[in-house]
Amino acid sequence: HVRMHAEQATMAQAAELLTPLVLQNYIGGEFVPCSRHIDSYDPSAGEVYCHVPDSGQDEVELAVNAAKEAFPLWASRSPADRARVLYKLADLIEAHLEEFAQAESRDQGKTVKFARTVDIPRAAYNFRFFASSILHHTTECSQMAHVGCVSYTVRCPVGVAGLISPWNLPLYLLTWKIAPAIAAGNTVVAKPSEMTSVTAWMMCKLLKEADVPPGVVNVVFGTGPRAGDALVSHPEVPLISFTGSTATARLITERSAPYCKKLSLELGGKNPAIVFKDADLEECVATTVRSSFSNQGEICLCTSRVFVERSLYPEFLRKFVAAARLWKTGCPSDLSSSNGALISKEHLEKVRSYIKLALSEGAVVHCGEGVDQLTLPQHNKNGYFMAATVITGAADESRCMQEEIFGPVAFVTPFDSEEEAVRRANGVRYGLSAVVWSRDVGRVHRVAQQLQAGLVWTNCWLVRDLNLPFGGMKSSGVGREGGRDSYHFFTEVKTITVKH
Ligand code: NAD
Repeated sequence: HVRMHAEQATMAQAAELLTPLVLQNYIGGEFVPCSRHIDSYDPSAGEVYCHVPDSGQDEVELAVNAAKEAFPLWASRSPADRARVLYKLADLIEAHLEEFAQAESRDQGKTVKFARTVDIPRAAYNFRFFASSILHHTTECSQMAHVGCVSYTVRCPVGVAGLISPWNLPLYLLTWKIAPAIAAGNTVVAKPSEMTSVTAWMMCKLLKEADVPPGVVNVVFGTGPRAGDALVSHPEVPLISFTGSTATARLITERSAPYCKKLSLELGGKNPAIVFKDADLEECVATTVRSSFSNQGEICLCTSRVFVERSLYPEFLRKFVAAARLWKTGCPSDLSSSNGALISKEHLEKVRSYIKLALSEGAVVHCGEGVDQLTLPQHNKNGYFMAATVITGAADESRCMQEEIFGPVAFVTPFDSEEEAVRRANGVRYGLSAVVWSRDVGRVHRVAQQLQAGLVWTNCWLVRDLNLPFGGMKSSGVGREGGRDSYHFFTEVKTITVKH
């Protein structure tokens, strides 16, 4: 596995690939060694891939100071000037796309194909998108002629932004925060997940070449309770953008409350798909397999509950199970693999425990875990793999139908009426995304408007216009990110009134 990657790389890159990498924090434009490290694994081999700095308060302090120092100059540059830097960074990431994709795959377990076509292109695009977007925002003006006044708004960057991201789409989600934050004139201290830090470290190596001034982007590696908490509770970080689990978001909310920080929380989901009998079945089955199992089901937007109108249910289930069986789980660098390995042994065990629970409560597993044998190459024998699994017969109130599992598991259940489908789809504490499948235009709009979800797709999935708001309702989040929403989050608005 390693040898194959190495052959594709240059000598220098090969040396890096063959040894466990030792990452360093990036603070004030320099790589800074850390005295403590933690191991991070290659999930597809079950082996240590790199040693990640186990940063704490001291390292965060250094990074915040560097960011504070860089802020005034960066904030005073024109948006067009900052945009030029972001464009350069986008180009550099693209120029190194293959190395980034290989590293993301080894670090996270996802297929190289997915990293190559989704994660890394999107990371580059995040910079390009926000570079262009920052040039187009306008502020408001309102006249109050009766009192001889005119009022207008100005927006200014907030200062040092704290950015915390998860392990499922590592560089994709970290850049989704860094790009709008620095485009708006903030400086940042970013903390990627301790389980997937490599591509953030690789990006740091490109910052100088992209003309990112020292201190504008600082990356501190480490765990949530040490590095993450130090960032969240730092008095001079007025804003936190967090993507991760709902449980962590609660802690972050508590820890930042004494400082009344500005928070953006992008959290978990238990996303439904509703399939009406007039759906385009072929398209629906193919897309629902993708929406349920892509990236090992480790995307916050993945479908986990599929409600199917009863008359279509038997045919849908047969076709869905057949298609799920074709969704091959295997070596991440094999182009025929649709899924690679789950992030960790613990996570694999957790996902398995939900399947055991469902079985013990009378549910039926139609394919995948416990039913189909995985055939894996020798070097993947210790990896954390699970096949795409389809389950029926779980009750709506069961933990499996209520809690986020975040693995390649889909629960399918029949319904009889539109009202019932909407009520059951809404019957969870999450509200991130939903999919509606129907050819009836009226129904599609009606149902979409009743669903409690920040994003509703009809007859498609994961089609994203970055200009529009992204985020969740209920326990799936607080706030929205995307074009104008990110600009608003990463700036403070001030209203100025002038009497003339
Ligand atoms: P997590 O909450 O365990 O960790 C996310 C990040 O927070 C990591 O960097 C972690 O080190 C850090 N962290 C953990 N404890 C912390 C603390 N006490 N203080 C500060 N930081 C802390 O989440 P995860 O397991 O890495 O990611 C999976 C979760 O992320 C799932 O719930 C998934 O749905 C969610 N997610 C949501 C979105 C979205 O946009 N809504 C996108 C991707 C993932």
